[in-house]
Amino acid sequence: MLQVVGCFIGAHDPWLVALAAAICTLASMTAVELMRHARSATQLLRCVWLGIAALAGGSGIWATHFIAMLAFEPSLPSGYNVELTALSLVYAIVLTGIGLAVALIRIIPFAPAIGGAILGLGIAGMHYTGMLAFEVAGYTEWNLGLVALSIVLGASIGAVALPIALSRQGFGTRAFGALLLLIAICGHHFTAMSAVTIIPDPSIMISKGAIPARWLAVAVALASVTILLLACSALALDIRERRHALMQRDRLHSLANAAVEGLLVCRGKIIVSANDSFASLVDLRNSDLTEAALARFLPEAATRLALAGHPDQPVETELRVTNGSTIPIELIMRPITYGNQPHYALAIRDLRARRRAEGQIEFLARHDALTGLANRTSFDQRIEQEMKLAEAAGRKMAVFCLDLDRFKEVNDLFGHAAGDTMLVKVARLVSNLLDDTQMMARLGGDEFAVLMPCDHAVAAGRLAERILEALRNGNAGASGPVIATSVGIALYPDDAIERAALLSYADTALYRAKAEGRGTYRFFEAKMGMQVRDRRLLEHDMRHAIARGEMHVVYQPQTDVTTGAVTGFEALLRWQHPERGAVSPALFIPIAEECGVILQLGEWVLREACREAASWPNPLSVAVNVSAVQILVPHFVQLVHEVLFQTGLKPHRLEIEITETALIRDPSRAQSNLNQLKSLGVGLAMDDFGTGYSSLSNLRVYPFDKIKIDGSFIRAVDTNDQTAAIVRSVLGLGRGLGLPVLAEGVETEAELRFLEREECAAAQGFLMGEPAMIEQFARHTHGAVVEPEGRSVAA
Ligand code: C2E
Ligand code: CA
Ligand code: CA
Repeated sequence: MLQVVGCFIGAHDPWLVALAAAICTLASMTAVELMRHARSATQLLRCVWLGIAALAGGSGIWATHFIAMLAFEPSLPSGYNVELTALSLVYAIVLTGIGLAVALIRIIPFAPAIGGAILGLGIAGMHYTGMLAFEVAGYTEWNLGLVALSIVLGASIGAVALPIALSRQGFGTRAFGALLLLIAICGHHFTAMSAVTIIPDPSIMISKGAIPARWLAVAVALASVTILLLACSALALDIRERRHALMQRDRLHSLANAAVEGLLVCRGKIIVSANDSFASLVDLRNSDLTEAALARFLPEAATRLALAGHPDQPVETELRVTNGSTIPIELIMRPITYGNQPHYALAIRDLRARRRAEGQIEFLARHDALTGLANRTSFDQRIEQEMKLAEAAGRKMAVFCLDLDRFKEVNDLFGHAAGDTMLVKVARLVSNLLDDTQMMARLGGDEFAVLMPCDHAVAAGRLAERILEALRNGNAGASGPVIATSVGIALYPDDAIERAALLSYADTALYRAKAEGRGTYRFFEAKMGMQVRDRRLLEHDMRHAIARGEMHVVYQPQTDVTTGAVTGFEALLRWQHPERGAVSPALFIPIAEECGVILQLGEWVLREACREAASWPNPLSVAVNVSAVQILVPHFVQLVHEVLFQTGLKPHRLEIEITETALIRDPSRAQSNLNQLKSLGVGLAMDDFGTGYSSLSNLRVYPFDKIKIDGSFIRAVDTNDQTAAIVRSVLGLGRGLGLPVLAEGVETEAELRFLEREECAAAQGFLMGEPAMIEQFARHTHGAVVEPEGRSVAA
């Protein structure tokens, strides 16, 4: 009797048993590797790889079985039925395939275990079909208990083997899975073999078609080689692909880390991979991010929904970083295949810099860059808004226009940096006075505006006073140019109900404030509009007056009080306007000073007067009025020098008349320029003495040669004790300082006699001669010099 126990001890060829074991190991490993490969492939490829796995695994298991059978040498004639042998191979392949396929179905719970059990049953099916194909000269008897045990062994060990083989662990676990599979196959085989008892019976003939064992060895060897080849190629493929994937992942990772933007690869709601930029954005280590929940960084569910629907569409949202704060970001989502699985990539762009820039642009668009105040655009918008509010509330609103007095001079004399500093200072001083309902804007240049909702004009007047006071106080103790501002105010709805008109009226009031003494404020009055327009026209006409030949110079004689002799002339500018006729210099000179045309006019008068005087045979002096604006211009001395040189007039014949105001504004510069003029040899007269500051120290500090008492003190000096006293004290002052005094505006003989008695040196006035064309004075400029006694000497 032959039994399975005998199989192990006596009836088996140990070499073939070893071969069977080797093939079985190989088959198990191959099946496992191919399975894993199939699992990571996509749909169609997965079926192909499953087929290959079924073929390799099935035929391997089959080969194991038959080599093990061949190792069994019952020393009885035996053979194998071809059809049944073929059928056993088919069972092996198909049932292995089904088992493996089931193991990969994700939706079935415990799929790998079920698949493993099916695989085990497949082994049994193959084995017993193969046993049926075994023909031997004897009877076979079956121990049903062992048969059942073999089936249970195969199925249960298979059910354990596959889940382990398919787990996502390393090679060791996989190898353990493959070993279990091997145990399932071998355990089943040898248990099943021991269930068989062969009772020899020579009368039983082996069928003619049965293949002898030798032939079978060839077939099985072939199958084994096939398995080996398949296994090797599968393994090679797997390794190559894995290495490739690893390399690609590495390359992708370094590429991703080089990106400035944050990059994430996610699966579902989980982060699979992140680049360094993202890690530093959320302030975490890169390794802390793997397997983290995306919602931790993108808390807005709406964002995630929006992303899901719109791949490649940027979505703006907020990123929550580790310290709990949020960063504005832009997200772009794109589905990708990562490690052969569908994933999605998220590009995260930090919007902070952009938001800052946008904020700055927005600010610049609405504000003045120098002072940071609102600009005209935002001021206009605010006015419109406030007008509506005022209308609804039945209130008023005041619009102030502010303009720095003589700002152009500050720029010209001190440079633009000083001008800028002044503008910033004004902005600061005025802004400090305003509350939240009020607003200050810089409309351009040295023009500012303030808006103020109020109930009554009185409140606006009070604010204007506070503004002027703040600016006055701002000058205290400050070096550099002095700030002075004029303010014009228009009221909504009293003056106008429309923005443009309101601003224009405030501007009109501003001009009035300037005209009436500067450093003050005025409310708009309807009649102002006309005056301002008129003034603008005059300004415009004045700019072209010289070129159009409308300007000319007249001369007024200056005489010696004691002798009555003409010692020189004062040059006075005249403007003959084509429509207005003669325009008084008392009217147009201040305007020319305000708008800067005085520089052009003054230079022209200087040239005319010097040219004229140089042509006289008699060396009489010529006095030229020079405005404060001119005297403070840096190149003024150079201009005088140049004119003297070009006209050939001796410097001592030119006298420059300057009012005290010119000195007050910038004493040090005035002093330096006057000293330089003096060193040219030019005479200097202080004009209009008594009307301004009448400061004794001015007379001491500056190099004046002459004092001109203003005409207002001379008028009725002979009858008015008060003015007489003033004139006497000025004359005394002159004597004390050694400066001759000239009295202006002498109209009567009595006035002249008074001056003579008081020993005033010189006089000028209608009595001695009105300003006239120089030709009228030809006898003085060209004729023989007439001595008061009537003696005439040659000129
Ligand atoms: P000012 O320098 O005080 O000139 C004297 C003014 O008194 C002149 O007025 C002259 O016509 C006037 N006048 C002379 N004698 C008498 C008199 O007996 N009685 C009266 N009532 N007035 C008399 P004008 O020509 O109208 O000039 C007015 C002012 O305009 C000048 O005052 C001067 O400040 C300015 N001005 C005139 N020409 C020039 C110029 O070329 N350059 C500058 N910067 N200012 C000038
Ligand atoms: Ca004068
Ligand atoms: Ca004068």
